[in-house]
Amino acid sequence: MTVHTVKNLASSAFLVTDENGAMIVDTGVAGRAPAMLQQIADAGLRPADIGLILLTHHHADHSGSALALREATRAPIAIHRDDADQLRRGGRVDLRPTSLMPRLMKVMLAKAEIPAIEPDIILGDEEDLTRHGGIGRSFVTPGHTPGSVCVLLPDHSILAGDALSGGMMRARMARKPMFAANPDAAARSMRAIAQHVPTAVYVGHGGPLTAASVTALKPL
Ligand SMILES: [Zn+2]
Ligand SMILES: [Zn+2]
Repeated sequence: MTVHTVKNLASSAFLVTDENGAMIVDTGVAGRAPAMLQQIADAGLRPADIGLILLTHHHADHSGSALALREATRAPIAIHRDDADQLRRGGRVDLRPTSLMPRLMKVMLAKAEIPAIEPDIILGDEEDLTRHGGIGRSFVTPGHTPGSVCVLLPDHSILAGDALSGGMMRARMARKPMFAANPDAAARSMRAIAQHVPTAVYVGHGGPLTAASVTALKPL
């Protein structure tokens, strides 16, 4: 099993492959589909080999290229039920910063619009993604958004979306999420991720986080 990171200026998207197939986790901002399709080709795959496009949450820097990638791959888009309505509506959302740096970044991020997307698969709190054409298991980690999910892969690494973030200077040091719609829930979700004792944690911004920095995390 391999996790390929497609670095975006604003956020990362991921291509996960194993002997049974391939899935995309997050898609980056709008206009990033060509970079992901190039990564798929570089991995020796065709677009039709993608079985699932999973969005860890609805934010525009993760959902921005989902429509273009669904069109190119014909794979279904999955999102947790508590983020599904916002994805259907699209538009801008209010971001609640958890500290000073994201407060400054908010000015930049708040401009991005979520494309209105009708998801194909609505995820519950825990899902076996192989049932949906993907790899590993998803589990809900609310806080950053109501329906943020993480993916636990067979090698015990975790794709965490924005439920955790990398440091600005030290990108591999785990930090609390930069924004949290519900800080208490976000803190519980951080503990839930740490309790999996992951081998590595891939996040939307910075990372991959070291296992040690994730287990050492103090809640918000
Ligand atoms: Zn986000
Ligand atoms: Zn993000």
